[in-house]
This record gives sequence, C-alpha cells and structure tokens, in this order.
Amino acid sequence: MIAEYIVGLSGLIAAALFIYSLKSMSSPVTAVKGIVVAGYGMLLVVLASFFSIFNVSGEAASHLPINILLAIIALVLGGVWAAWKGKRVQMTAMPQMVALYNGMGGGSAAALAAVELLGGRYTSSLSLLIAFLGALIGCVSLTGSVIAWAKLDSRLNTYRYSQQKAVNAVLFGLTIILGLIAVINYGPDDSGIFAILFYVGALAFGICMTLPIGGADMPVVISLYNAFTGLAVGLEGYVMDSPALMIAGMVVGSAGTLLTVLMAKAMNRSLSNVLFSNFGDSTAQSSADTEQKEMKSVDPADAATTMRYAASVIIVPGYGLAVAQAQQKLYETVKLLQDAGVDVKFAIHPVAGRMPGHMNVLLAEAGVPYDMIFDMDEINESFPNTDVALVIGANDVVNPSARSDKSSPIYGMPILDVDKAHEVFIIKRGRGKGYSGVENPLFFNENSTMVFGDAQAVLSKMVEALKALKGV
Ligand code: NDP
Repeated sequence: MIAEYIVGLSGLIAAALFIYSLKSMSSPVTAVKGIVVAGYGMLLVVLASFFSIFNVSGEAASHLPINILLAIIALVLGGVWAAWKGKRVQMTAMPQMVALYNGMGGGSAAALAAVELLGGRYTSSLSLLIAFLGALIGCVSLTGSVIAWAKLDSRLNTYRYSQQKAVNAVLFGLTIILGLIAVINYGPDDSGIFAILFYVGALAFGICMTLPIGGADMPVVISLYNAFTGLAVGLEGYVMDSPALMIAGMVVGSAGTLLTVLMAKAMNRSLSNVLFSNFGDSTAQSSADTEQKEMKSVDPADAATTMRYAASVIIVPGYGLAVAQAQQKLYETVKLLQDAGVDVKFAIHPVAGRMPGHMNVLLAEAGVPYDMIFDMDEINESFPNTDVALVIGANDVVNPSARSDKSSPIYGMPILDVDKAHEVFIIKRGRGKGYSGVENPLFFNENSTMVFGDAQAVLSKMVEALKALKGV
C-alpha cells in the first residue's frame, strides 16, 4: 500500500516537473534550467518504475512482462549512447538528432502497444482500441522520423512518383482495416498475424508519407511527428494505467501540436498543404531568371566601413552563421558598431537555421542581449527606414520571390523584407542555394552587394577593419 502510494506520488511529482520544465522552455533565459528539470522528472519516473517492480504486487502492479536484466542493459546502453552522442553533436546537426530521438519515442509507444495487441490475454475492447491507435501513430512517427532524419542528414532525397497520394491512401486504408481485424480477432487463439501485418503497414505508411515531403517543410514535419509521439505515448499510458506516461505524453503531444501550428503559420502553410503538396520541391523552377545575372561584391573591410557610418543596421542571421560558428565574431562586430553610435538590431525568422529557435540559441550563446533581438512580425516594417541590412548565411528566409513570384515553390512563405532596406550586404561563400533549393533574386538586386567568404572569416576581417577605424 505504501509502495503504491510512493509510486503514485512519484508520478505526480514527475508530471509537475514536466509541466514546469515546459513553462521554463518558453524563454531562452530559463530554457536550460527547464531541460535539466525535465531530466530529473524522467529519472524519477524510471526509478519509480523499478521500485514498483519489486514492491508493488497484485492489481496495481504493472502488467508488463519484465525482464529486469534486459531492461537494465537497455537503459545503460541507451543512456551511455545518448550522453556520448549528445555531447558530440554539432548544433547544426541537432534537428537530425531530435528527429531520431523523437522516432524512438514513437517506436517505444508502438512496442508497448505490441505487448497488448500480441499478448493474447484478456484486456478490455477499449484498451485494445486505444493500444491500436497508439501503435498506428507510434509506428508512423518512428519510420517518418527516421526518413526525416535521413533527409536532414542529406542521406536521402525527396522521392515522388505519379499516383503517390492514391497509393499512400490505399496503404493507409489497408493498415486501418488490418488493425481493426486484429482488434476484433483478439483472443487466446489469435495467431497475431493480422496484428503483425498491421504493424508492417503502419511502419511502411510512415515511410511513404514522409518520402515526398520537400526539404523546406521538414521543420513542420518534425514537430508534427513530435506531436504524434506525444499522443502515442499518452495513449499507451492509458493502456498501461500509468498516469506519469499519460501526462508526459499529453504534454509532449500538446507542445508538439502548438509548435506545428506556429511553424505552419510562420511559413503561411496549412498542415494539409505541408503533407500533401509538393512545396520545397528542389526540381521545381521559379520564374526568377537569375542564371545569367551578375552579383556585385565588395570586400569585408569596405562593407564594415559602410556600416560604421550608417545610422541603423539590421542583422539577419541564418543557417550559414551556425555552420561557421561565427556568433561570437558577429557580436564583436556589433559591439564595435554600437561603440560608433550605430543603432543595431537583430531580426529572426521563425524557421531560420535548422531548428525552431536555432538563431536565438546561437545569439544567446554569444551573449547578445534579448532586447536587441526581434521577431519577423516586430521588425519587418523597420526595413524601409534602415540604412543597412546585413544578411549572414541566410537565404530562404530573405528570398523575395516568396512574396512576389507565384511560380516560386516557396511562394507564400513570409520572409524578412531585407530587400526594402537602403542597402543590403549578404555574407555567404558562393552561389549556393538555400535549403529549399530555390534561386534567390535578392542577390542580384541593385541595392544588394555580396561579401563572399565563410562567415567567420568575413566577420573577423570586419572586426579588424572596425578596430582600425576606431584607432584601436
Ligand atoms: P538556408 O539554408 O536557406 O541558406 C543558408 C545559406 O548559408 C546558404 O545559401 C549558404 O550559401 C550559406 N552558408 C552556408 N555555410 C556558410 C558559411 N560557413 N559561411 C557563410 N555562409 C554560409 O538558410 P536560412 O536560415 O535562410 O533558411 C532556413 C531553411 O532551412 C528554410 O528553408 C527552412 O524551412 C529550413 N529548415 C528550417 C528548420 C527550422 O526549424 N528552423 C529545420 C529544417 C529546415 P553558400 O553555400 O553559398 O555559402
């Protein structure tokens, strides 16, 4: 009885810690603390699970068949691997890692459901139905996330063929039918063949559903699968009679859903559009004829001098800043400009970089004060009154064809209106396209000048030039 009470209380405390950690993650100032708090919550639940195996018996005991040795080996292997990987991962490879871990969450929920669906012992029809739903969502999240990981890691290209949507719809329908047969047939005499076929169908559907989704939509897709995983875990929490699992799943599910909605909104896209249209098709051509045009370029010192004598500068960081790890040099440049009396602001696009909040994390790492950082909606109207917009390793998020070129695959995505500034400097290494694979007419505009080079090297030269002007 006391043991039961301890396990229940641990679940409640862990749930409170998860909710608190999520709240902390709403601000960059408290986000790191939030992650640590969630980790403690997780640890508590794991310890409580082991405690319950040894101390709780009868009705209240977990009805999972547990092999303690295997569970401990899995925990140690998983924990050591995750800690090692987490320490080594590059910031730019974070979305891939998130996609992979998210997939594992979905896979775990599907595995839990398999214990119910293939167990052959008595369980209520409602539990079976919920286990079936959780398994479906978990499987789609598992294989969908693995495909998203492979795409983000440049191991796999977008794959499309004619009638793909119809084939996917048939596969989905068949999977549902197989799952329902498995639920109806369930019992001690059931061979489990329908449940196994249902699993194969659900796993295959995750792959087929994700293969045609274009690169620029990946952020939305990853957060959608994150929501799926949360939902699957929550549903299995109900089946396993585990309040902690239910709450953790629902917290992840609702946070993932909100993030999906916000990101889809930031890209001005409906969810069905993300999933079923060919947005971000790298083979699609925009009508922007940029092949023959020339880009003007200037060396870093000249660009720095122009900024030094400007009244206002807005800085737009993008993925290239993260690749170059140039955030410290950037802030050094900014401080020198501020010393010279220039009004400097940062403009952040919601999907700049490769994960939600990527740029905020980079700038926070360099110590940039939060009051210098503005979201797209807050700052867009300031560009026409700004002397210089400095774009650093950003491309898609400043591509004006999204605003004006109906034939562009990224038409409709809100962008930062840097082209409206009096003068635009763009730091990038060469003519490389953005993540969506679409040409950017911004680079050929009258008021645009390229500053070619790696962001770290260019900013170092800018710092030197600004120091020389200052007489340091
Ligand atoms: P993009 O990926 O569109 O462009 C980045 C640019 O940086 C490239 O054109 C590249 O040009 C340049 N670059 C790369 N390395 C360096 C370097 N070392 N120094 C200087 N420049 C460099 O970036 P954006 O931030 O504009 O857009 C983000 C894109 O990623 C969007 O399409 C978004 O949908 C997608 N995405 C976003 C996610 C998110 O959650 N934020 C997740 C997944 C995808 P060059 O090679 O010529 O140097």
